[in-house]
Amino acid sequence: MSAKPQIKGWCPGALRPMLSGDGWVVRVRPYGGRLTAAQAEGLATLAAAHGNGMLDLSSRGNLQIRGVKEATHATLIAGLRALSLVDADANIEGRRNILVTPFWRVGDEAEVLAAQLTEALAASDAPALPGKFGFAIDTGTQPVLQQASADVRVERDAQGRMILVADGFEFGKHVTPETAINEAIALASWFMKARNAETRMAQAFQNHAKLPSDFAVPRQRQSYVPKPGQTQSGNLVALAFGQTTSETLASLVKYGSLRMTPWRMMIVEDTRHIPQVDGIITDPDDPLLRVVACTGAPGCTQARGSTRDIAALLAPHVALDQMLHVSGCTKGCAHPGSAPLTIVATKSGYDLIRNGSTGDAPDQINLTPDTLIKAT
Ligand code: SF4
Repeated sequence: MSAKPQIKGWCPGALRPMLSGDGWVVRVRPYGGRLTAAQAEGLATLAAAHGNGMLDLSSRGNLQIRGVKEATHATLIAGLRALSLVDADANIEGRRNILVTPFWRVGDEAEVLAAQLTEALAASDAPALPGKFGFAIDTGTQPVLQQASADVRVERDAQGRMILVADGFEFGKHVTPETAINEAIALASWFMKARNAETRMAQAFQNHAKLPSDFAVPRQRQSYVPKPGQTQSGNLVALAFGQTTSETLASLVKYGSLRMTPWRMMIVEDTRHIPQVDGIITDPDDPLLRVVACTGAPGCTQARGSTRDIAALLAPHVALDQMLHVSGCTKGCAHPGSAPLTIVATKSGYDLIRNGSTGDAPDQINLTPDTLIKAT
């Protein structure tokens, strides 16, 4: 039997789901960032049976089953456990925030390090970390995860040597495949001692923290921009607003196993075919790739208005080099930073902010869908 769902003081997961406007959100963290074809098929079946059939791919590469009823949560967890998609307990699940470069190759260092880190975070002596604290295993030739949320990163320097990086700090420390995970755990433990009230590594550096002097190796800067298309690991396909349905997931997995990314895209491990599945984006110039939007109303109880219908309406009007963020309230969950165009739902319509974020003063207020088209 799973524990009764809780919402306060926990990082949401499968074992501790989060209540939203359309029911419980059950967040599944695929091990190593990958779902085998059998796991993905099983997950699609469970989402259809116990949720409302909608799934979100989060900015941390996790899949969220939406619309789960409290009464069927335990059955859903039993199904996920049978697919080997749930941790032994909620504390281990809460610590296992690991992003892995989706371009890993079978048996390479990224795959091995991700498995080692999973094991280390499940150990009884693993540090008790804040809910959003995370790790990135980004050991391809070029880093691809630097824009994604993580606190402790394993990357390569410009010479190809492996380095350990504390997020928010410009220099790393050389490590080896043999030492990387022990060093990563030690860095997380260092943070827990060095922090004040901060919950993220970068906040601690902004405020006061200083790393030991051996963190002196310059980081290699990311130049990779994800776009749908063929990669050496399979086809990268996008999901509009990071959302999909159980039917789309079940169709997609017929092409191969799936690798999660933090870009609202998945890699389908098939290098021969472009998946022909309704509900996915395979065209790198699709206007929907230029808009981001949170759940909004009615799925989120805090939303002041709908978001994704507005974003889809405005997408063809967004210039090629621009980006539009539509948010259901000022919290800005889908894109915490600045954007060329930001729209925030309010009690009396939509506010528009140019070159700012959801918390900034609006340039125009009380807009309607029609006046938004003219304003963007
Ligand atoms: S930004 Fe506001 S409306 Fe959108 S998902 Fe977050 S809390 Fe909900």
